[in-house]
Amino acid sequence: MLKDFEVVAYATPDAELFCPDCAGDEARARHEKLAGWTPVFAGDEWDYIPCCDGCGAPISDISLTTAGWAAQYDADHRAFPDDDADDAE
Ligand SMILES: [Zn+2]
Repeated sequence: MLKDFEVVAYATPDAELFCPDCAGDEARARHEKLAGWTPVFAGDEWDYIPCCDGCGAPISDISLTTAGWAAQYDADHRAFPDDDADDAE
């Protein structure tokens, strides 16, 4: 069980998300500073489990909102969730 303040991922200014393993490599490759990226903490609540944009691994150590838990339950119990039309910008 992670502490709420433990960093489980990093979000870039372009809203990409990287797990800590990939974040360091990505930041170096882009000549950006990891410190300039937004840390995502284990206690942060999301509506879904995000995936790393580098390795594709689910960032499952974040916390889920009530809606997130419901969505996760649906995803686990349905082969094809019918509404994922959560228009991202
Ligand atoms: Zn990764």
